[in-house]
Amino acid sequence: MRSIIICKEQFCKEKGGKMVVETRSPEETFALGEKIGRTALPGQIYTLTGDLGVGKTVLTQGVAAGLGIREAVSSPTFTIVQVYEEGRLPFYHFDVYRIGDIEEMEEIGYDDYFFGNGVCLIEWAELIADILPEEHVSIKIEKDLSQGFDYRRITVEGLPDEGESERL
Ligand code: ADP
Ligand code: MG
Repeated sequence: MRSIIICKEQFCKEKGGKMVVETRSPEETFALGEKIGRTALPGQIYTLTGDLGVGKTVLTQGVAAGLGIREAVSSPTFTIVQVYEEGRLPFYHFDVYRIGDIEEMEEIGYDDYFFGNGVCLIEWAELIADILPEEHVSIKIEKDLSQGFDYRRITVEGLPDEGESERL
């Protein structure tokens, strides 16, 4: 499993297709994103779910850094997708929080991004579940206040097997 590569460190709690990472600071969440960015493959789609303020954008900034993007990355506020071309692969950062209708995805020509050779990362992907390709890596970030204010439990599912990466 590719997840084992990412999972060398003390982070890893479970084996199999699912990886659970616990972080205790924004820096640790960023570092996980960086690893994801370094190992991302052309055409991969990452979905990111979790409440407002949980750390989706922090993780995204790590992914961008891992892809070699130096430009500052923040949540696209007035556009659905922000495109970054300077990294190892094109990076398409979606934030669909304010989407009113799935039509808006059609209008931006989302399939060029979803089925292209770049890396897509979609914040609030649950809002566009209807058009999400089945093959994607899902990342869920949750707080658990009993573990402290800065604690985050990050569940990554759907990482491809080594053998599969050839075709991705
Ligand atoms: P979202 O994009 O999910 O709305 P942001 O990434 O913009 O959230 O903000 C997350 C906030 O939580 C930041 O202010 C960050 O400093 C803080 N934070 C505290 N602990 C963590 C952690 N373990 N991982 C990520 N962010 C954290
Ligand atoms: Mg955000």
